Amino acid sequence: MKIYNTLTRRKEEFVPVVPGEAHIYACGPTVYNYIHIGNARPICVFDVLRRYLEYRGVKVTFVQNFTDIDDKIIRRANEEDSDYLTVSRKYIEEYEIDAKGLNVRPATVHPRATENIDEILSIVSALVEKGYAYPAANGDVYFRTKKDREYGKLSHQPLDDLMSGARIAVGEQKEDPLDFALWKGSKPGEPSWDSPWGKGRPGWHIECSAMARRYLGKTIDIHCGGQDLIFPHHENEIAQSECCNGVEFSHYWMHNGYININNKKMSKSLGNFFTVRDVAEKYGYEPIRYLMVSAHYRTPINYSEEVIEQCRASLGRLYNCRENLEFLMQHASSGEKEGEEAIRRTLRNYENKFVEAMEDDLNTADALSSLFDLAKEINTDLNADTAPSKKLCAFALELFGRLAGVLGLLYTKKESSADEEIEALIAARTKARKEKNWAEADRIRDELKARHVVLEDTPNGVKWKIAE
Ligand SMILES: [Zn+2]
Repeated sequence: MKIYNTLTRRKEEFVPVVPGEAHIYACGPTVYNYIHIGNARPICVFDVLRRYLEYRGVKVTFVQNFTDIDDKIIRRANEEDSDYLTVSRKYIEEYEIDAKGLNVRPATVHPRATENIDEILSIVSALVEKGYAYPAANGDVYFRTKKDREYGKLSHQPLDDLMSGARIAVGEQKEDPLDFALWKGSKPGEPSWDSPWGKGRPGWHIECSAMARRYLGKTIDIHCGGQDLIFPHHENEIAQSECCNGVEFSHYWMHNGYININNKKMSKSLGNFFTVRDVAEKYGYEPIRYLMVSAHYRTPINYSEEVIEQCRASLGRLYNCRENLEFLMQHASSGEKEGEEAIRRTLRNYENKFVEAMEDDLNTADALSSLFDLAKEINTDLNADTAPSKKLCAFALELFGRLAGVLGLLYTKKESSADEEIEALIAARTKARKEKNWAEADRIRDELKARHVVLEDTPNGVKWKIAE
């Protein structure tokens, strides 16, 4: 598989440290609020990366942290007259609801910053010992950026350019504006932990270096996150990890592109800020997931209500294909029919196209079009007229489901109680027609119509679907 590596700015063949395995670290959310539409993108696309590698038989260890101590969390706790633990626990639970809704599988490990303080302190101490970091009088410990000759290699920015944008904020005691805090001395009333430099708490960047090393080792295969994290977060992670461990931190760096809202940058001040929960309540979760995989992960995505409606309609076409197959299968005869081997070969070809797209830097956009092409082929080759065998239906269902599953799609169950009611109405209508009770049959037909149910009479009985 080829991966575009932000570090080298090239597409490179993916070669893991341990053959047949992939150690992946993804930066997770800071848990002080519901996740927004922009947060949904990395969690969906890197879930697809994991699913695809597993589909290829790779054993994936996927670590995604929760930043559960941070200025924003402390601020939120003060606003809510609560404490940081209550706030972070609440929003981890809310995150888990959204992630499940988006069909994002839980990571192999979801470590939390506050549960890794010892690992964090061990890295900070090592950096101080090696002269890459220094404690200041206020209890902060800073990374000495100028000592790291490779600093800037991920963001491809020369140190001088970075220098011109850097400032020392009030209260900081840095030697140099580019230095960044590894450890922050505690202010009165803030949560704190003991350290060799007095009471304090970890800076943001250090937690990822610590958790990646603890759960995945000193050198990992892929580090991923949103492109807004390249600088300074990921640049700083590299500096900390490589200066401490003396080996390369991550071989591949993958970054997803931005999401715009109605072609504008999403921001609270523009009033175009949407949480995943808000959108899911109106449209369901799956159209959001569909939107995220419908574009290549590095290209920008535009979110609007029209776009999400289109996603929902497109999903409906995929669901129809699967439901048609399930219906055919129920009534199909066993035993293979002549020519079915050729159809199987044709269908398998779409899997090859799907794989080809995914091998090219996880091109989910092209993979998704292969899935639609497959659906079209299935609809042409397997229908009431061609009356395929049970074996061919099962083959098509498995293939279609497996490829959709790599993208994490087609996971929403029909609401069964509503389904059962509709099926009972259809049975009652069939009975009424048999008994030539036309008035009753028409009454039921109108009731089904009011529920947007579209009926189709086939040689195998009545099929139904909800109109788009
Ligand atoms: Zn991180």
